Amino acid sequence: MQNAKEPSFRESVDIMFNRAVDKIDLPLGMKEKIRVCNATYTVRFGVRLRGEVKTFVGYRSVHSEHMEPVKGGIRYADTVNQDEVEALAALMTYKCALVDTPFGGSKGGLCIDPRQYDEHELEQITRRFAYELIKRDLIHPSQNVPAPDMGTGEREMAWMADQYARMNTTDINARACVTGKPLNAGGIAGRVEATGRGVQYALREFFRSPDDLKKAGLSGSLDGKRVIIQGLGNVGYHAAKFLAEEDGCKIISIIERDGGIHSADGLNPDDVLAHIREHGGVKGFAGATYTEDGVALLEEDCDILVPAALEGVIHIDNAARIKAPLIIEAANGPVTSNADAILREKGCVIIPDMYANAGGVTVSYFEWVKNLSHIRFGRMQRREQEARNMLIVNELERLSEAMGDTWSLTENFKAKYMQGAGELELVRSGLDDTMRGALQSMRTLWHEREDVTDLRMAAYLVSIEKVAASYRAKGL
Ligand code: GLU
Repeated sequence: MQNAKEPSFRESVDIMFNRAVDKIDLPLGMKEKIRVCNATYTVRFGVRLRGEVKTFVGYRSVHSEHMEPVKGGIRYADTVNQDEVEALAALMTYKCALVDTPFGGSKGGLCIDPRQYDEHELEQITRRFAYELIKRDLIHPSQNVPAPDMGTGEREMAWMADQYARMNTTDINARACVTGKPLNAGGIAGRVEATGRGVQYALREFFRSPDDLKKAGLSGSLDGKRVIIQGLGNVGYHAAKFLAEEDGCKIISIIERDGGIHSADGLNPDDVLAHIREHGGVKGFAGATYTEDGVALLEEDCDILVPAALEGVIHIDNAARIKAPLIIEAANGPVTSNADAILREKGCVIIPDMYANAGGVTVSYFEWVKNLSHIRFGRMQRREQEARNMLIVNELERLSEAMGDTWSLTENFKAKYMQGAGELELVRSGLDDTMRGALQSMRTLWHEREDVTDLRMAAYLVSIEKVAASYRAKGL
């Protein structure tokens, strides 16, 4: 619901863009060119369902074509509208530039509550929507490559890819027309977990820098840090799971549609997800206190707040009450421009959306490359690497024997060392490298330039410079 005291989502993105672009020496015309959304296509189509024709409204917005294809998810929600799709498309431009995925920015949306339809109906609707977009090259391996977003997943991407293949029977690169497909339909290992995994890698990189931590008033490692997660969807669930299981974080609160739950001892994300699947919400989860006003839990005392649901959840009316010293925006646009100003004033550090949730599009990029190269990552190298590692292990064991077995390699080391990297390991390595590199480039500006007061401004600066360089190279 739009708050009268707030700008719209698109205006909010523009305000944040303008704050940053003021710090860059670029011709005014170029700044304007980068900011505006190039085009938004609106489609209204009919599908015969349950004996009557139902009309649906969908959008595909292209924000910037400084690189092609353009990239960005397709969202299914009954709140989808043109302003939102354009805001999200703009964020995709900056996100792709920031993490060096060679794409322009785009986003799509279908105004639908997917829970109102069964699988067969959703397939009919999705294929029809895809047909409309494919006809106009708004789904195309070299022009525009959608991916999952809120309300969509592997299943919808498989339908869209199949629809494209049916309409382009001789296109050898057909599978590269969308990403986020299931593994057996041209997907890549690690895409489903990618955005949540990226949140984890982003936090790990943040915690590697004592200077970053100091700015947030935090210290030490991720171990034992108290985390609040809003939204246990694909992104929130994976972020919570990895942070709890691998980094020792304590997930003290989880906020969902029907309310929020809190436990000072920490919640197990898998148990909470199982409960949600069975009961439709978090209410009644054993071993935690339930609050119907879940959003109020955003204001609880914690070390790290992870909004992983909708845009605009931290706004002009609740920002001043947020206690978290560190917010990582796993969702797109969870903090409005007004709230951003209030939080900055309070000294809260925000790891911005265009960086924090870039794990999804990063692994989408790997999937697209995989589809175009028609070979799984690691297929050529894995066993060769294992053979070389085996050589070293054998040689060390021979030496150990020659020295009278005074030392030896542990079985655990040998097993781990000898294993060659498969697709999942390579995808995680590429994602980790990307998340580290992007934060390092933002951090340099944040620490070295006095007028760069926060990470969001730094992120905008890094990406705007890259987009401007692309336009310049094109002769604009
Ligand atoms: N929908 C995701 C996002 O907002 C993924 C986009 C993609 O993979 O193209 O970043």
